[in-house]
Amino acid sequence: MFGRDNKSQFTAAKERMLRRDLKGRDIRDPRVLAVMTKVAREEFVPDSHRNQAYSDGPLPIGMDQTISQPYIVALMTQELRVNKDCEVLEIGTGSGYQTAVLSKLAKKVYTIERFAELSQSARIVLERLGIRNVEFHVGDGSAGWPRSQLPPSGCFDRIILTAAVPQIPKPLMGQLVDGGVIIAPVGYSGVQELIICEKKADQFFERAICDVRFVKLRGKYGFEG
Ligand code: SAH
Repeated sequence: MFGRDNKSQFTAAKERMLRRDLKGRDIRDPRVLAVMTKVAREEFVPDSHRNQAYSDGPLPIGMDQTISQPYIVALMTQELRVNKDCEVLEIGTGSGYQTAVLSKLAKKVYTIERFAELSQSARIVLERLGIRNVEFHVGDGSAGWPRSQLPPSGCFDRIILTAAVPQIPKPLMGQLVDGGVIIAPVGYSGVQELIICEKKADQFFERAICDVRFVKLRGKYGFEG
């Protein structure tokens, strides 16, 4: 599909994604739309699927994992209300695409991935794109960021889970600042609810946004295996 004129082909596909899949649904935040325009999704998908980089769905990235659908990346970013004062914790680096999108809006992103191979290739892509405000960690993100390496404030302003959990892991709730927001796909079956959870005076207020389908988060406070 994409021949010699690769770049303009991607541009056309990206414009279609913005118009049809993002603005055509409920992505309204101009900062989110600007970032979705800026970050090249084709950099994050394997060569075998590059021609589908702007298709309206998830794509395989190896290790039985997927890069999320662009609309879901935009929706989660919009709902998180990230700004340049925010330190964001992401669980499930995967390809690094959501990480890159967040990095353009946040002060800093801390991202955890269970597979070293995925973390390493995400790191290489982000470095190539000149993104420097991201810290990577390989391990079980359900237990939170390693305590000895927490940011000076000791917690995060925003937390995003890009894999499904049976419930929001307790250690993550503990690493959220008062006034902070967590977003996560929550549920036991193949379909989960996308949940926004706000922390106010040590209480948590949850709201469901829509149904989503994510791969499972495997770990101590996630699914077994
Ligand atoms: N945001 C990613 C989506 C990745 S899919 C992207 O846009 O590409 C979810 C990722 O969560 C997978 O890479 C999977 O390996 C990872 N994951 C699953 N369980 C995890 C855990 N306990 N800790 C950290 N990462 C985990």
